Amino acid sequence: MLTATCHCGDCSIEIPQRPRALTNCNCSICRRYGTLWAYFKADTVRLVHEPGATESYSWGDRLLKFVRCARCGCILCWEPIRRVLGSRMGVNARNFDPRDIGDVKIRRLDGASTWKVLD
Ligand SMILES: [Zn+2]
Repeated sequence: MLTATCHCGDCSIEIPQRPRALTNCNCSICRRYGTLWAYFKADTVRLVHEPGATESYSWGDRLLKFVRCARCGCILCWEPIRRVLGSRMGVNARNFDPRDIGDVKIRRLDGASTWKVLD
């Protein structure tokens, strides 16, 4: 298990293991956030914070929400708004210590148009 916190420390996030790859997506939201995603089954990830310590953003068909710390604004994850068995989520690997995940391979995803991996 690996743990990270947002910048202010109000929110922490636990992932079951080191991700095998991280995704740098160029879609309209990811390129603005500058996130690097590590994907996990949603029920294997734990967000730990006081009630009300996070805010979220969703748009369009509202299938996903992007969750951030309400105090420091760091993006923690995206997750499905309606979670079902087997749902996956993306954890923002930028919150993790580079000593833990700094050497994990980064893949470039063309989420802006083809949804193909570019490398
Ligand atoms: Zn914070």
